[in-house]
Amino acid sequence: MTLHRATIAAQAAGSHSPGGGTVGAIETSTTFLRDEAYRLPASGDIYRRDDNVTVREAEAVIAALEGAAEALLFASGLAAISLVMRASPGPIALQAGTYYGTAKLGQLYAEQGRDVVPFDGGDPASLEQAMARRPGLVLIETPSNPWLTVVDIARAAEIAHRGGAVLAVDSTAANPMVTRPLEHGADIVMHSATKVLNGHSDVLAGALAVANPSLPVWERVTTLRAMEGAVLSPFDAYLLTRGMRTLGLRSDAMNRSALHIAHWLHAHPRVTAVRYPGLPSHPGHDVAVRQMEGFGGLLSFDVRGGAPEALALLARLAVVKRATSLGGVETLIEHRHSIEPAFTGMPPALLRLSVGIEAVEDIVADLASGLAAIP
Ligand code: PLP
Repeated sequence: MTLHRATIAAQAAGSHSPGGGTVGAIETSTTFLRDEAYRLPASGDIYRRDDNVTVREAEAVIAALEGAAEALLFASGLAAISLVMRASPGPIALQAGTYYGTAKLGQLYAEQGRDVVPFDGGDPASLEQAMARRPGLVLIETPSNPWLTVVDIARAAEIAHRGGAVLAVDSTAANPMVTRPLEHGADIVMHSATKVLNGHSDVLAGALAVANPSLPVWERVTTLRAMEGAVLSPFDAYLLTRGMRTLGLRSDAMNRSALHIAHWLHAHPRVTAVRYPGLPSHPGHDVAVRQMEGFGGLLSFDVRGGAPEALALLARLAVVKRATSLGGVETLIEHRHSIEPAFTGMPPALLRLSVGIEAVEDIVADLASGLAAIP
């Protein structure tokens, strides 16, 4: 029987404790006992940098949700992304306007002599042009944070593969209930599992999942993770598995509320732009309808005016929390212009909203009060 993803998540892909408990145990050992004949224990585990059953259980859930052959967990989303960049040969075609941290990594690698080629994720012709530099890796982020650019994954996969590159997709803003990039031809899907996968703002984690584990880049990623030890801790893996049990419910609630809020903001006279793939006016809406089920919980909008007006709105909020990050059960808002360096070109009037699972009426009322602070 093929199970729905909400079922796989709720049952943690069938994990249970060695004692028969319905919940997996937390294996904290860094080393494992051998018997008199110097045989390893039944788990086959040797040392925590390579092996941990609690981490493997969380990886199994992610692999099942993504329809992947394998998944690996890392100490953070950026640790995962950085490793894929380093493990790939040749130039990197990197979508312009990705999450600031990914853009910064691209900049750092470029400073060290790596050829990092930017392209416009919303325009396949721009990726075609970038392919002239023969990248080994094409890295896209869809929808992107906080521009909400939607990249046509199937199209990007076709272009990347024609040029001999691997396509990796940062799908942090579209959890596996919403988009499964491997089904659209991507080779590797990435998540900051810190965000909606865990969903409770109490775990830092990164995930990679692969369709074909014999890809050379995947073999290098696996080896480098074990050598460098950017692995997730068992405690965080336990919390992540626990958080993912409710992914189906949380994702549905976030999709519903974010769509409602996006329409409401779109009609508001003090809002000059709303970026959300669920709005028919979004340039990537048709692609989003094809590759997303629901449009996720992330959106951004511009207020009339600039930074002072955006900050005046924030100052008034009582329900929505002023904090970075996204994908948690609580709604968060952030003025990215205040924290990003100038090179990202963040508009001063832009506010990023990560919609949580609260009653949507409370969020709308709070935003209405904030918007009323703008002259
Ligand atoms: N990718 C995206 C789209 C993100 O939004 C973030 C963090 O905000 C990351 C990657 C980095 O993840 P982490 O903070 O877990 O390193």
